[in-house]
Amino acid sequence: MPPALSFALAQADGAARAGRLATPHGSVDTPAFMPVATYGAVRGVTPDELAAAGAQILLANAYHLHERPGEDVVARCGGLHGFTSWRGPWLTDSGGYQVTSLAGSARVDEDGVTFASPVDGTRRQLTPESAVAIQEALGSDLAMVLDECVPATGEAGAARGRAAMERTLRWAERARRARRRSDQWLFGIVQGGADAALRRASARATGELGFDGYAHGGLGLGEDAAARRDLLAVAHEELPAAAPRYLMGLGRPSDLVDAIAAGVDLFDCVLPTRHARHGVLFTRDGLLRLRNARYRDDALPPEPGCDCPTCARFSRAYLRHLLRAGESLAGRLASLHNLRFYLRLMAESRAAIRDHRFDAYRAEVALRSGAELS
Ligand SMILES: [Zn+2]
Repeated sequence: MPPALSFALAQADGAARAGRLATPHGSVDTPAFMPVATYGAVRGVTPDELAAAGAQILLANAYHLHERPGEDVVARCGGLHGFTSWRGPWLTDSGGYQVTSLAGSARVDEDGVTFASPVDGTRRQLTPESAVAIQEALGSDLAMVLDECVPATGEAGAARGRAAMERTLRWAERARRARRRSDQWLFGIVQGGADAALRRASARATGELGFDGYAHGGLGLGEDAAARRDLLAVAHEELPAAAPRYLMGLGRPSDLVDAIAAGVDLFDCVLPTRHARHGVLFTRDGLLRLRNARYRDDALPPEPGCDCPTCARFSRAYLRHLLRAGESLAGRLASLHNLRFYLRLMAESRAAIRDHRFDAYRAEVALRSGAELS
């Protein structure tokens, strides 16, 4: 029987790489961006619209779905694919990050994370084993181990960072042993904060445990872009080169092309949809803030030349009006555009890698996309 999942690298340009991840629910061209569907939906956007925007894989949060409606409900309704009607690949995050960041109420010990449910206040525990069981019940194609993520700053932070990194390794080993499904890939997570030696040690040990893919956790918490590139690079020196690499939860267009240049294959970030709800649009020439008075009677589409359904029909002036009037259509239309922008960024990155001109493409994105539209 052929393997249910596989990852094949097709082209490289420096450390940047393009490939294809095959799953039982379809293929994903990498580098890929995963729109965030925490509860099984990207806010205000339907599965058909996501596919039309170029999405090939979505991300859901196992912990949030465990709370509501419960993985047993999802499993009885056909798993994530049947329940949500997004029939393509799904990645689930374990939710460890969300749980450990519940201010004040979470306690982490060797067994797992104990916390008060934000839904009904009852005591809950997430362990490396239950995180795997929940994700197996949800039926995602790619699952993540439970990890411990602490902000590692200062002297005390360094010691905590090392302890959390080492615990993450012990949890990763337990997660591996807890696996029951062969049609789901499990990713290990590299931790170690902003300490290059810790991240190298974490990557080496996680790689030696042996996972189907590897994620970088705990980045985007204040380190600068150059430091992040170095942290990704040292981890990549240690990780098995043939496995997919995922940078969790980050970030801006310039962050994405930077990480692609370091050899990352998968991304997710709430930024395109969160910015959209606040009236901030990504464009090739910089950020467009719809609340700015100068768009009051601007008849141009958000980004001239964009092939999204919003830019095809609607003006900046109309979107600005919807936003100010509190119409939910504003966030929906802005999300369609921003998601298309991110997904096009990935398609353009793949093409640039194929043509061995990724450095030039990355420089162009870094120069323009972070600016304010003038
Ligand atoms: Zn557009």
